[in-house]
Amino acid sequence: MSAADAIRGAVVWPAEIDPKEQTRQLGAEYAALRIALADERKVSERLWDVALDQQERLAELESLVGKLRVKAGTNSSNSSLPPSSDKPADRAQAAKERRKRRRNGSAAAILRDPDTARRKVGAQPGHPGHCRVVDTSVRPDELVVTRPESCPRCKAALDATAPMFEEPKLELVYDFDPFERRFKTTGYFRHSVKCPDCKRVVFGKAPSSPFGDGLVALVAALRGRLRVGLPEIIVFLDDCAGIHLSLGAAAKLCQIASAAMAKSQGELLAIAQAAEVVYTDETSWRNEGSRAWLMTVASQDAVVFRIGPGSCHTADVDALIGEVGPERVVVSDRGPIFDHLSVANRQVCHCHLARNFKKLESYGGASAVRGSALLAQERELFRAWHAFRNDGDREALQAMLAPVQTEMRRLLDEGSRSLGDWEFSRGVLKVWDALWTFARRDGVEPTNNIAERALRHAVLWRQNMLETKSGWGCQFVERIETLIADCKLHGRNLLQVLTLAVTHWRAAQSRRPRPTKLEMQARQAAISAAAASA
Ligand SMILES: [Zn+2]
Repeated sequence: MSAADAIRGAVVWPAEIDPKEQTRQLGAEYAALRIALADERKVSERLWDVALDQQERLAELESLVGKLRVKAGTNSSNSSLPPSSDKPADRAQAAKERRKRRRNGSAAAILRDPDTARRKVGAQPGHPGHCRVVDTSVRPDELVVTRPESCPRCKAALDATAPMFEEPKLELVYDFDPFERRFKTTGYFRHSVKCPDCKRVVFGKAPSSPFGDGLVALVAALRGRLRVGLPEIIVFLDDCAGIHLSLGAAAKLCQIASAAMAKSQGELLAIAQAAEVVYTDETSWRNEGSRAWLMTVASQDAVVFRIGPGSCHTADVDALIGEVGPERVVVSDRGPIFDHLSVANRQVCHCHLARNFKKLESYGGASAVRGSALLAQERELFRAWHAFRNDGDREALQAMLAPVQTEMRRLLDEGSRSLGDWEFSRGVLKVWDALWTFARRDGVEPTNNIAERALRHAVLWRQNMLETKSGWGCQFVERIETLIADCKLHGRNLLQVLTLAVTHWRAAQSRRPRPTKLEMQARQAAISAAAASA
């Protein structure tokens, strides 16, 4: 018996299965499996291709993210970008770190890191003094001989014909005449007389400052109107008029001009606050490296600026625009600082709104379609407004606006129920009535362009000068911007107006009794105490 026969004998075939049929079935199964396997292979090959493609794409995206991360982290400390381009958050962080290092820093650490040893702006304590020496080579345009009339110590009247006791003193006063439009130098020859009563040698009077009112106005105008830095002003005056000015003196002249403008600032604010319709806008500012705000309120007759620290609050808005009675209208953008004003007293700027609608267009989908439709309505609105400006027919304006209002309302209602722009649409609907004040009130415009145009000069000042470095610097900017706007509004010459203001202020100062020595000491002590507690 062969081995095969032995196996055949050992295998017990189930009675119902036919071996031949079994072979055929297995063969068919085998063929099907081969086809399936081939398909699987094709699928896995395709998956491999996809995986490789995605791997490549991933590497590409990773490198892009890396590049963007580097770009986002680039600032003035690690590139050639100017400090002005730093993000506010970066600046705040850098200032925080500096303060921390300064607090914890030992002398050695400060020496290692010059940043921590940052000095205060201006002259340093204990620096050698610079005295003005009278330039004898200058030939004054005018010579004034002054004789003393009375003795300041014993108040005795002095004889005008008494012989000179000492060599006369020469004082030079540099000035700019804004009416004749020329520089001029006046020499004061101060004769001396010995008081017959108390024996004091008394000299004739000369102006207390070597810089005339016109020169004060010129320096302030160069700084404020032409946005020129103090060092450049010094070079200009030296080259152009032979007037030597130190940095401290130039700053002092700006302070004098600022004090002289305080009165007109108050008067103009009162005019703006009394106006029925005011236009207002706000922008960011920087003072001493910290965040601040600049705000303007403009009416038909006055434009006033104010700078304040930190963020602008509703209280700041109220302080600048004044009380908003039932008849007043405030034109502004949709900024949250104006939310506390009643909608009935507001006009929301349609230029801002048009920009918002344009942004909606970039959302895509239904929002974009709505944005385009809203923009079309804005165009209709402006067409109606321009027609009204030509003919002054208010009824026609309202008739033209009626369909615009209906369509805009419908679109915004639709938007407020959408997923993409519900927040924006509801925000606009919240101030809906304030969109149409211009249609019923005289003197109200649909845009806030008056305030934005007023703000433009100050914004350019900020771009040029970057920031103010002190409280009085802020005050100087807000006052000179106010005066510049006022001169522009009424066609006045800034230099002439400012010179007269300085003359009035100086005259008032000289009439005011001088503080006594005790008062000066008390004032100095108060300043030192305030500095120590700060
Ligand atoms: Zn005397």
